[in-house]
Amino acid sequence: MIDKKKDPDPSKCKLVKIQGVQTNSDVSSSVINNQEEKSPYAQFRGSKTLFVTDFSSLAWCEFQQHYALIAGGRKETQAMKAGTEIHNELELQDHDIVSILTNTKEDSWGIKLYNLIFGLDSLLTSFKTRELPIFGFVSGLFVYGIIDQVEMKQMGDTFEYEWVISDTKTRMKPFLPNQTNIPPSVKYQLMLYKKLFDELAEGVIDDIKIFQTLQLNPDLEFSNELANFIKINCEDFNEKEKEFKPNLRNLIKVVINHFGKIWKSSNILEVSYKFQKDGRDLGSLYFEYDENQIENHLTKSTKYWKGDRKPEGVPIEEAWKCRNCEFADNCEWRLDKIKELEQKKRALIEITNGRT
Ligand code: SF4
Repeated sequence: MIDKKKDPDPSKCKLVKIQGVQTNSDVSSSVINNQEEKSPYAQFRGSKTLFVTDFSSLAWCEFQQHYALIAGGRKETQAMKAGTEIHNELELQDHDIVSILTNTKEDSWGIKLYNLIFGLDSLLTSFKTRELPIFGFVSGLFVYGIIDQVEMKQMGDTFEYEWVISDTKTRMKPFLPNQTNIPPSVKYQLMLYKKLFDELAEGVIDDIKIFQTLQLNPDLEFSNELANFIKINCEDFNEKEKEFKPNLRNLIKVVINHFGKIWKSSNILEVSYKFQKDGRDLGSLYFEYDENQIENHLTKSTKYWKGDRKPEGVPIEEAWKCRNCEFADNCEWRLDKIKELEQKKRALIEITNGRT
């Protein structure tokens, strides 16, 4: 099945999956018993794929993230809906999208890898791509993400052109925020994108470990629709059709080959802002990649995901975050902090009364 408003040229299309009958489906990440005994990585992600946002959103409030995982996700707000619409519109400005029926988890990963190859091709031919899938390992945990945009740009005073990674955020106010107001979660998200992108560009791709972690059969041929699409639209497959079977083992070879032509991204990262009401461009803010900062955050986050420590809520100075939190009424951390404060107040009153 193909979604089309106009007749798209398939070679200029990214893929999106429609789920068919799963013959070897992944059910391990669904509801899991004995929740307390398992690490959050095992409990909520089936010990397989963590997302870049699984690391970055811990910077806002770990308890909020933990509650959202237990609840099976966050409530979709108006802002989130508007953000998704703007992202979709931006992506469709660049290319069409073809829907493909997937029957196996290998098909689903085949689509991700095809979209990555498609994005890298766009980088090499038009120096810009949107919604680029990337992945890698962080302290042994597999992480996957989709970069909003990578574009070749001239940064600073040098004459050098660099791959600049950017993320698009929507805003309710029609002007740019102050530079100091870029939230740490946004910075960590972009820094982790850069880290993963650069590792791939440097050839750090352990395909065997990826297939093992995700329990994928790299030699299983893709289902017909995807296999045919790849054979027609992916040069390496139509040129060497006989020895190049459409499966994950061969598709990742093409990914590795494409990354061989790409180099590391700029140390300057971009946050591009759009006005939520009408999608209008509000401009961009830039900040510098900080290796120590991201490493410290990843080390701390990994301990949470591996279950080596409990999540933490916000410190008292950031209690304003609780005001709009959907979990505030029953949040253990918040209720404990309120109790602590009341005890302190009582103790203070007793001391003051004792003095008088
Ligand atoms: S109420 Fe506050 S501490 Fe609790 S989850 Fe929400 S933001 Fe975090």
